[in-house]
Amino acid sequence: MTVTGDLTVSPEDELFRAEVRAWLVEHLHGDFADIVGTGGPGREHEALERRREWERRLGDGNWIGLGWPVDKGGRGASLTRQVIFHEEYARAGGPGRLGHMSEQLVGPTLLAFGTPEQQDRFLPGILSGEVLWCQGYSEPGAGSDLAGVRTKAAVRGEEYVLDGQKVWTSLAHIADWCFVIARTDPAQDRHRGLSYLLVPMAQPGIRVRPIVQITGTSEFNEVFFDGALTGVENRVGDEGEGWRVAMGTLAFERGVATLGQQIGFERELTAVVETARATGALDDPALCARLVDAWIGLKVMRYTAIRTLASSGDGAPGFEGSISKLQWANWHRDLGELAVDVAGTGALVTEGAPYELTDAQRLFLYTRADTIYGGTNEVQRNIIAERMLGLPR
Ligand SMILES: Cc1cc2nc3c(=O)[nH]c(=O)nc-3n(C[C@H](O)[C@H](O)[C@H](O)COP(=O)(O)OP(=O)(O)OC[C@H]3O[C@@H](n4cnc5c(N)ncnc54)[C@H](O)[C@@H]3O)c2cc1C
Repeated sequence: MTVTGDLTVSPEDELFRAEVRAWLVEHLHGDFADIVGTGGPGREHEALERRREWERRLGDGNWIGLGWPVDKGGRGASLTRQVIFHEEYARAGGPGRLGHMSEQLVGPTLLAFGTPEQQDRFLPGILSGEVLWCQGYSEPGAGSDLAGVRTKAAVRGEEYVLDGQKVWTSLAHIADWCFVIARTDPAQDRHRGLSYLLVPMAQPGIRVRPIVQITGTSEFNEVFFDGALTGVENRVGDEGEGWRVAMGTLAFERGVATLGQQIGFERELTAVVETARATGALDDPALCARLVDAWIGLKVMRYTAIRTLASSGDGAPGFEGSISKLQWANWHRDLGELAVDVAGTGALVTEGAPYELTDAQRLFLYTRADTIYGGTNEVQRNIIAERMLGLPR
């Protein structure tokens, strides 16, 4: 393992960094210059078609699934190189990835739990950037308490028939496939009797209804299953074993890409500091102290994340991922508050119809969600308390 607290890299890794940079200059700042900085949290609605094309370009460049084994179509890249790629991508203003759930969630899940046939069928579409996935976990009444899932899937011949509802399904409106947790054994409850199913989105039994967010945009949806179908061969893991597979996916969610995310955070903090300079907020000792705290927090986050990932070996942290999640969610939420405080009374005004948000306003509103998605703060604290510290439930 070459990653240390300060991410020391070898000369060969620096050559790799140069390769990444050169590719991004040629392709992102060349053909795709119009989508630099688009997409991502709070702006997922931007330039969807162009970003789909961009996913394919990334696939052509063999930049998707960098850390996956070579015999599965990846590059077998070390953790250091994966971090380098994510950092350079963010630094170059790479657009928000439409394929992040494909590459970072379902792909690793298939590698860990899928059959060779499932891997052969689904991994190439992910690696080429052609096929987009969404995550069908949450339901009304089953969010933090995921074991409360009520969507049913009954076997009929060679197919499962799904009935039920999911909610907060990010990017379901553009996804080709959804990985769904459904109850396949109604006689069992809680963690038992669930299965992990891969379900094609383009079929009459699925209806997707957008949910408009406080930012005025819509990146997630309600998804209704009404006799939706998928083949039994699209079940990952054994029937009734869905909980184990689903928990595997959640561990991957807090993986190596979080380090790239921090480069984006750094850019946002720099913009807030520049605004503070322009508005005179930098002369306010209280605001100045909060900016310094934010800078320190960012450094602490980076070192914690690197240490966590380095100790995990495969880029999928265990329970320690909960510490990082808690840390960055709170940091980012605080940065959103700082951004509007620094902007002053101007932050209260919007323009356009119905309204257009400034970057500071978008940051403030969107970061309210950071402490909720990917597991709420309270849930992360429960995990840390019970599973890491061994405190009683
Ligand atoms: C931007 C965004 C994108 C999302 N994308 C997706 C997606 O693509 N796919 C998907 O499946 N889901 C998605 N989600 C849903 C997300 O995973 C859930 O919102 C989250 O798990 C919380 O569930 P809930 O909203 O049902 O809240 P609840 O579980 O009802 O929680 C309500 C409150 O109670 C607290 N609480 C609950 N249980 C406990 C407990 N045991 N101890 C202490 N406090 C507790 C929670 O912390 C929270 O404050 C997304 C959410 C957001 C905000």
